[in-house]
Amino acid sequence: MPYADPVKRREHSRLYMRKWRAAHPDRDRSGRPPEVRIRTDESRMKDAARAKLARAIKRGEVVRPDECDDCGGVGRSGWMQAHHDDYAKPYAVRWLCSACHGLVHRMPDGEVA
Ligand SMILES: [Zn+2]
Ligand SMILES: [Zn+2]
Repeated sequence: MPYADPVKRREHSRLYMRKWRAAHPDRDRSGRPPEVRIRTDESRMKDAARAKLARAIKRGEVVRPDECDDCGGVGRSGWMQAHHDDYAKPYAVRWLCSACHGLVHRMPDGEVA
């Protein structure tokens, strides 16, 4: 523990942050590079599909089931998550529990939806 004194420690991290910001002028406070914040067509499409689906759920046109399409369970939260296989079809979703949804996104063929 180089700085047992909390005042000195704060001073140290302040100086560190100042140096870090000077060395990385293109980054914001989150430290993420700017390209992460640039909206791609894909991310726009995903957002649009999710928004469309959310509106349909609100209107009662799409009903969120209580059970997972994959395992038939209710998951830990008891709340099914909509998974889009194709964002061009915002209403064609699979309803998955958080566990199954996590598995889908960790599939090695890189399917991310
Ligand atoms: Zn499941
Ligand atoms: Zn998904």
